Amino acid sequence: MAGCETSEEDLTLSPDASAPDGSAPAPAAEVALADSFVHSRLLDSVASFTHHRDIGALDHSLVLSLAELTSAQRVVLAKRAIDGAYVEAIVRCMPDANGAYQLQEVDPDAIDPALQLLHRCMHRLEAQTETVQGRHRLVVPILCDGRAIGALQLDSDLPPAASRPLIDGFARIYANYTALLHESEHDKLTGLYNRRSLERQLQRLLHQREQALRMGVPPACASRGELAEAPPQVWLAILDIDHFKRINDTYGHIYGDEVILLLAQQMRACFRRSDVLFRFGGEEFVILFGAAAEGIVHAVLERFRQRIAEHVFPQVGSVTVSIGYAGVGCHDYPASALDRADKALYYAKQHGRNGTCGYENLSARGLLGREMAAGSIDLF
Ligand code: GH3
Ligand code: MG
Ligand code: MG
Repeated sequence: MAGCETSEEDLTLSPDASAPDGSAPAPAAEVALADSFVHSRLLDSVASFTHHRDIGALDHSLVLSLAELTSAQRVVLAKRAIDGAYVEAIVRCMPDANGAYQLQEVDPDAIDPALQLLHRCMHRLEAQTETVQGRHRLVVPILCDGRAIGALQLDSDLPPAASRPLIDGFARIYANYTALLHESEHDKLTGLYNRRSLERQLQRLLHQREQALRMGVPPACASRGELAEAPPQVWLAILDIDHFKRINDTYGHIYGDEVILLLAQQMRACFRRSDVLFRFGGEEFVILFGAAAEGIVHAVLERFRQRIAEHVFPQVGSVTVSIGYAGVGCHDYPASALDRADKALYYAKQHGRNGTCGYENLSARGLLGREMAAGSIDLF
C-alpha cells in the first residue's frame, strides 16, 4: 500500500522483538508484534485515504482501504448530498476474477435490491446486519451533526462483532474529514462550490468525458439524443447579476446577500444534479455542464435566465442576470475557458443585459471583434 514502509517480514526480524540471545521472540512479544503489524496497516490505510484533497478520490480510497484490510467480498459507500436527502453517489469495490479489487461507480438512481440495506441504515441512523449467501453483511451510518451523510457496507467472512469497531472507526474518520473538505470547497453563504474547487471539478468532468469517448460509451448524464447530435462536451457558463450594485445601494447589503442566496437556491432547483454549480465571486456564478450539446446548454441557460427575470425577490422585486458560456477542450486551461465565457458575458452586458450569449456562436458570426476573439482556441 502507498506510503507503507514496513512489511511483516521487517517486523518479524526486528531486533527489539527477539530475546537477548537472538533466539525466537517470547509469546508476549509475538502478540505485540502481531498487534503492531495490524496497527501499522490500519494507520497506513487511514493515512493513505486522508491523503486525498478531493472528495471523489477520498471515496475511492476509503472503500479500497477497507476492502484490502478486511479481505472483503464487497465494500459499498453510499453518499448523500451534505445538505440534501437524496443519495448522490455510490462507490462499490469488489474483487475481479483474479482477486484484484476493482472500483465501480454505481448509478445512485438505480433501483437495486442489494442497496436496500444502505438506504434503511441511512433512514434509521443505526447499523444493520444480514447474512447473504453465508456471508456477513454489515452496514453502518456515516453520521455528521446527527444526520446520516452516507452509509458504509462491508460484505465479508468476519462476523459483525469483529468488523464493527473497524468499520465504525472508518465511518467516523470519513465523516470528520469529509466535513473539513466540504468546508474548504464550498461557499459559506450559498453552499455552492467555491472558486478554489473550479479547476478540480473541471478536470474531473474532462477526465470523465475523455474516458467515455475512449470506451465508446456515453457518460451517465448524456442522453441518446444528445449523442446523436454531437459528441458530448464540457461547457462552462458565467452568470452575473445585472446592476447588483444598485440593489446593494438601494436596499442594503443584507438584502443583497439574500438575493445571492435565493439565486443560488433557484440554481439548485433548475439545473440537473450532474451540472456543477459555483459561487465564483460576489454576485458571479459559474456552471459546468458535462456531456451536453451546445443547443441544450443554451436552452437550459436561457430557461434559467427567464425564470430569474420572472421571479419576484422579497423587497427587491425584479432581478435579471446576464450569462456567457463557452466550450471547454480536453487540454484547455481553466483560465482560458473562463476568459472565453467572460467575453461572451461581456457581450451580453454590452447588448442590453438580461441575455445569454455563447462564445463560439458570437465568434463564428464575427461579433466579438478582432481584439476580443484573439486568443480563442479550437476546442477539439
Ligand atoms: P453589471 O450589470 O455590469 O454586472 O453591474 P453590477 O452593479 O452588478 O456590477 P459591479 O461589478 O459594478 O458590482 C457588483 C457589486 O457586488 C459590487 C459589490 O459591492 C457587490 N458585492 C460583491 N460581493 C458581495 C456580497 O457578498 N454581498 C453583497 N451584498 N454584495 C456584494
Ligand atoms: Mg460582477
Ligand atoms: Mg453584476
